[in-house]
Amino acid sequence: NDVNGSKRTSRVRVAVRLRPYMDKQDEKGEGPCVRGLGPQSLEITNWRNATETLQYQFDVFHGEQTTQQEVFLSSVKPLIPHILNGQNASVFAYGPTGAGKTHTMLGNQDNPGVIPRAVREVFQLVNTQERDQDEWKFSVEMSYLEIYNEKVLDLLSPSSQDLPIREDKDRNIVIPGLTLTRLSSFSDFHTHFVPASLNRTTASTKLNQRSSRSHAILLIKVVKSQRVPPHRQLTGKLYLVDLAGSEDNRRTGNQGIRLKESGAINLSLFTLSKVVDSLNAGTVGRVPYRDSKLTRLLQDSLGGSAHSVMITNIAPEYKYYFDTFTALNFAAKSKQI
Ligand code: ADP
Ligand code: MG
Repeated sequence: NDVNGSKRTSRVRVAVRLRPYMDKQDEKGEGPCVRGLGPQSLEITNWRNATETLQYQFDVFHGEQTTQQEVFLSSVKPLIPHILNGQNASVFAYGPTGAGKTHTMLGNQDNPGVIPRAVREVFQLVNTQERDQDEWKFSVEMSYLEIYNEKVLDLLSPSSQDLPIREDKDRNIVIPGLTLTRLSSFSDFHTHFVPASLNRTTASTKLNQRSSRSHAILLIKVVKSQRVPPHRQLTGKLYLVDLAGSEDNRRTGNQGIRLKESGAINLSLFTLSKVVDSLNAGTVGRVPYRDSKLTRLLQDSLGGSAHSVMITNIAPEYKYYFDTFTALNFAAKSKQI
């Protein structure tokens, strides 16, 4: 509810990021099928039918030259002050496998992505605010989890089983049993996060397949406590989510267990798309948060008074054409004003 007590809900800002053309990915050498038109728009061309050119518009379009720093400044940095003030926020990377979701969220040593930059910014703001006033103190905590086959798994405690998602009496979403680690600094974050994230993203092909089929969710929680009466306490949550690949696994002839996984992923992603659409269309009807684990988990940090950004990652090579087309149609629809 907003200050006037009405049920107006915030919309999800939609950004699109195009990664650079990687020649070897395009077997037929057909060249890029995506072209930026301006700071908010792009067009895609179907080379099999060159007359078929489609144009799209978003809140922001990041062309292939865009740096990690620019993505952070434009889409994520503005959310951080809200977290220190008891509000919630979420950032998702959406798009087909290979289009740059993990690069955007995690990046690498030389080009850190949204996650390390956001955590660094949280500590910078906390330190500045604690230096400049005496009334409030802050504590920063993290959880790191994965949704795989509609199961909630604790990445900081790999032996854990499927965890339940609950709502407390104040309508906050909570996960009993999930590891919540207190962080004292950015390097402390690094110590806990890197091993857990390496576990998930590198290793065998099998694990890579899993990582493209699961949603990796980092939660940074900031608790702001008043040192003097009435000792108020405000909690802000920031979810940073590397979503499962948006490609349609049914097309690639997956069978058996893979097909089951695709089904589960499609449920979570499909529900996310319904939730985002209904938030952005401003419909008064029911927002279907409860239809999947992902949206249920994010319920208190997506819509309502929360601040959300979806970064849709796309690739320029022709072999991604169909997945790009599908992802852009979702992103463009989500942008609907
Ligand atoms: P996803 O997580 O969506 O499957 P990745 O982030 O793994 O995709 O990206 C696929 C490949 O493209 C990786 O080798 C990654 O380093 C590279 N890549 C993605 N985005 C960019 C970018 N903006 N600049 C340079 N390389 C990129
Ligand atoms: Mg990835």
